Amino acid sequence: MTCQIYPALEIPETLAAGPGPGNTDPRVLQAFSSAGVADHMQGDILRGMIECKYMLREVWGTSNTYTFAVAGTGWSGLDTMFSAVMPGDKVVAFNNGTFSGIDALTLRIKAATPDEHAANPLDPQATSVTVIDVPHGQPVTGEMAETALAEHKPKWAFMAHWETGSGRINDLRGFSDACVRHNVMGLIDAVSSLGVENFQIDDYPGIAGWASCPQKGLCCLPLTYAPVSFTDGYIGSLKTSGAYTYVHNPIFEARHWGVIDGQDVEKGTYHRTHSGYAVAAFHESLRLTLQDGLAKRSASYRTHEKVLRDAVTVLGCNVTSDMSSLVVLNLPADLAGREMELVQNCRARGFGIWPTLSAPVQIRIGILNQLNRQAISRIVRLFAEAMREMGGQVDFEEIEALLESRYGTSIAA
Ligand SMILES: *Cc1c(COP(=O)(O)O)cnc(C)c1O
Repeated sequence: MTCQIYPALEIPETLAAGPGPGNTDPRVLQAFSSAGVADHMQGDILRGMIECKYMLREVWGTSNTYTFAVAGTGWSGLDTMFSAVMPGDKVVAFNNGTFSGIDALTLRIKAATPDEHAANPLDPQATSVTVIDVPHGQPVTGEMAETALAEHKPKWAFMAHWETGSGRINDLRGFSDACVRHNVMGLIDAVSSLGVENFQIDDYPGIAGWASCPQKGLCCLPLTYAPVSFTDGYIGSLKTSGAYTYVHNPIFEARHWGVIDGQDVEKGTYHRTHSGYAVAAFHESLRLTLQDGLAKRSASYRTHEKVLRDAVTVLGCNVTSDMSSLVVLNLPADLAGREMELVQNCRARGFGIWPTLSAPVQIRIGILNQLNRQAISRIVRLFAEAMREMGGQVDFEEIEALLESRYGTSIAA
């Protein structure tokens, strides 16, 4: 066998206009690439991690001491959040799309008994987990949560805040209230909503655990940190049960962020080797979020999503989503069924939109960190062009008129 040295890997600049990752902010990349070579216990890195912890509490509106971040992607944070779920634990999980479906699988993996694992190792059918399937494109409502929790009386209940698979917002208020009423510990996949929507953890007392990601609302793709937050109730349960993991156990993992025995300490302790580059990037992304302010940023998402939504509607598409960072749509009748082809054509030229990953096939166009006239106009034009190329009816003048009427006066470019 010959061993080849390949040419240096070059990755082109594309327009990341999908559900995530979003375009990493240049400030974040700058912080990432200008960090010096330093070991993981160097003083500024440890200080940076402590500052991240405090900024994260501020961004997320919480006094939960166990608010920190887990090295990796969104799934790393989610795995950490699910670590306190033990074999045989009673769980109710809502599945209304690709991501909550994988979350529900994770919960079945965590709650399955050894016999259940042996019977179906990759898809254990844990009898203690009730998965409530909500059809694609529909939200989880407070009523659904109330009914299911009243009936099953679980220890844990799970829901995605924003289901990115179908672009739907689930009823966090109703879910949290149902958890409080039935004394259930709520777990939330907030991967898509953190840094986009203006909400505060401490307004939702039914939720015991939260997990998010770096690459969506925080505009921080360079493999960094997935934010998590846990109430004292969650940590108390974890202390009693333990967890079948070292590196994703929140109690161990929080130590490097300066949380020991439920207390903030001045310095993190060695736990595993964190990267100064990642810490610098994450730190900058949190500074950026706080400087923007979530109220302003979330309003900006709504404004620009509305322009994109109205533009694709003018093109004859039917929008079925209600997230502010993402538009999920069906093509007009004359192009129906060719969604995947259109997505592939766009991706081939560096316009990175996405199909849905579970049936039915729809198109997903995201605007993460694209909050200005130029970026949204570019997305609209590229999409219209792709439709026209496939033989769709496209009135470019009408599209330009719409962009001008929305951006010409009131909204700053
Ligand atoms: C993107 C996403 C995930 C997965 O996050 P990764 O960073 O890709 O690991 C999980 N849940 C939801 C709701 C998501 O949108």
